[in-house]
Amino acid sequence: MPTVEQIPARPHAHHWLIEEANGPLSTGVCKSCGERKDFRNWLLETDFITNEERRATAA
Ligand SMILES: [Zn+2]
Repeated sequence: MPTVEQIPARPHAHHWLIEEANGPLSTGVCKSCGERKDFRNWLLETDFITNEERRATAA
């Protein structure tokens, strides 16, 4: 077990390294503290919303 017990819990600017998008979620790992977080692939959502808006406009 690595001796990384003194990871500060204080807030800092996480430096997220985000995996390549291969689905609706990508896993990001903070370069500074190793925290993991799931990120939505906003581009996909934006695209979806855009399509919905186009539909609404066309209707
Ligand atoms: Zn961090």
